[in-house]
Amino acid sequence: MGYSHLSTFIYIAVIPGAITGLALGYIGDRFELTSLQRLIAAVPLWLAILSGWVFGMAGLAYLFGVALALIYPMPRCACCGQPLLCRHAEQCFHCGADWHKT
Ligand SMILES: [Zn+2]
Repeated sequence: MGYSHLSTFIYIAVIPGAITGLALGYIGDRFELTSLQRLIAAVPLWLAILSGWVFGMAGLAYLFGVALALIYPMPRCACCGQPLLCRHAEQCFHCGADWHKT
C-alpha cells in the first residue's frame, strides 16, 4: 500500500520519451521533416527506443547478476558440498542437513 509506481512511470515513459524527443529533433532537422511527418514517426520511434531501453537495461541487470555471482558465490552445504538455495538457508535441500537454531 502507498507505492505510487512513479519510478515505473519514469522508467517506462519519461526516459524513453525524452530520448525519443531528442532523436526526433535530430532526425527531423537532418531530413527536414514536416511537423506531420515528425508526428507520424514519433510512435514507432518511441516503441523502438522503449523496447531497446527496457531490454538493454534488463541485459545490464543480468550481467550485473552474473558478475556478482562470480565475485560473491552462493555458500555451500557443510555436509555434502552442494550450493544452498539462498544465502540465508539453514537447511540443505540436497542431503537434508539442518542447522536451524531451535
Ligand atoms: Zn547438504
